Amino acid sequence: MSTSERWSAPASEVLRPEPGFRFAAADAGGTPGWRGDKDDVEDHLAKRAAHLSDLQERLYAHGRSGGRRSVLLVLQGMDTAGKGGIVRHVVGLVDPGGVQHTSFGVPTAAEREHHFLWRIRNALPAPGYLGVFDRSQYEDVLVARVHGLVPPDVWEARYDEINAFERAIAEAGTVIVKVALVVSLDEQRARLQERLDRADKRWKYNPDDLDERVLWSVYQQAYQAVLDRTSTDVAPWYVVPADKKWFARLAVTELLTESLESLDLDWPPAHFDVAAETARLAELRP
Ligand code: ATP
Repeated sequence: MSTSERWSAPASEVLRPEPGFRFAAADAGGTPGWRGDKDDVEDHLAKRAAHLSDLQERLYAHGRSGGRRSVLLVLQGMDTAGKGGIVRHVVGLVDPGGVQHTSFGVPTAAEREHHFLWRIRNALPAPGYLGVFDRSQYEDVLVARVHGLVPPDVWEARYDEINAFERAIAEAGTVIVKVALVVSLDEQRARLQERLDRADKRWKYNPDDLDERVLWSVYQQAYQAVLDRTSTDVAPWYVVPADKKWFARLAVTELLTESLESLDLDWPPAHFDVAAETARLAELRP
């Protein structure tokens, strides 16, 4: 089965929410667009990994040759949705030397002295790089809204500010891929329980996660607003069901691959005379 046969349509089409999409009703256990078998997944991912890695290397080479293009993957999702797994298993398919990864936690005292986009701007990928945001500017309209960390008129204004910001970085050459990982309440409970049960996962457990879990429906509303107000042509959101980790990883692999393919980058031309250098190499006797 070829890639095009395994997907009923490009992931960027099937995972893009239709107008009227309801985040709270999203099927976290779904595998939209995927037509392959589950047994097929490892084999398929290995093949796509080679392609993704080749595309990322072209991007890096382009940047080293003065090109301005870059890709930014934004990962959002409730606790346990699998952002870390995407970083390890999908971003991990490419050369780490070409990746700029940033996790955004609670803003530090220094960060709080600046506009909310200040730390985001500082972390944008340089030309040629794949930037990965584990949480992002969207925390400032998610946790900030849900917990009332700033007054409503402040977070209200942020949707437009984010859109303008993303438009500017897209115009400067960055392809933006925004992924909302959707986990169900049941699956979140199972993953939290696993963190309690397993010594090797306990370090990930944070008692505060339960306080966030209680606010599930308020978060769903905040996610709905994010999708409704910040899905733009230059920076679309993709909603990725994440109860099946293998599907989330496949889906984000495809989204990243498509975004890199959209750049249509060739290997940069040599800035030297290839024939002359070949002759010189043959003649040199160190
Ligand atoms: P994760 O839950 O992402 O795996 P973690 O538990 O290790 O990460 P950190 O990365 O230290 O925790 O921080 C994540 C926390 O920071 C989340 O609770 C998130 O809501 C919070 N956070 C991120 N950005 C902001 C922000 N702009 N304002 C307030 N809180 C924020």
